[in-house]
Amino acid sequence: MAITERLQNTTEVSYWTGEIPLEYIYTYGRAGEKYFRNLKDKGTFLGAKCDKCDIVYVPPRIYCEKCFQRLEDKYVDVGTIGTVHTFTVLYKNLDGTEKEKPVIMAMVRLDGTDGGVVHYLGEVEPSQVEIGMQVKAVLKPKKDRKGIITDIKYFKPL
Ligand SMILES: [Zn+2]
Repeated sequence: MAITERLQNTTEVSYWTGEIPLEYIYTYGRAGEKYFRNLKDKGTFLGAKCDKCDIVYVPPRIYCEKCFQRLEDKYVDVGTIGTVHTFTVLYKNLDGTEKEKPVIMAMVRLDGTDGGVVHYLGEVEPSQVEIGMQVKAVLKPKKDRKGIITDIKYFKPL
C-alpha cells in the first residue's frame, strides 16, 4: 500500500482480537496521601489554604485551582466538625433489595472550609436530619485506622 492511499474501512488492515490483562494501583497522590495519613494518625481532616484566593480546599490540593499557587506548604488541620450541606436517604441496596434500615448519606461541609466529605450520618433518624445541621465525625479507634475513607464510621449530630 502506497503512503498516499487512504483506507476506507478499518477491516482492510490486519488486526487481532483478544484481551489484555491489566493490573493497576490507584494512588492517592501527594495531597491525598497527606490527607489520609493525617486522618489515620491525628483523626482530623486536612485542607489546603490559598491565602490569595481565600479558599480552603478539602480534600487538600497541591496547587490552587484558581491561581495555580503552590499549596503543599499551606496545609491546615480543619478538625472534624461541619454542617450538613445536602443529604439523601437510601432505602434500597445496589441490587434493588430493601435495606433493613434506611441509610443517610450527606455532603458535610467542614467548618471554615470550602470543601467537605461525603459520608454516612449516624445516631440520627432520617426525619431528624436538616440541611445546616452541625455534625462531627466519628472515627474508628486509632489502632483500627488504615488511612482509608472507612476510618470514618459516620458523622453524628453535635
Ligand atoms: Zn488561589
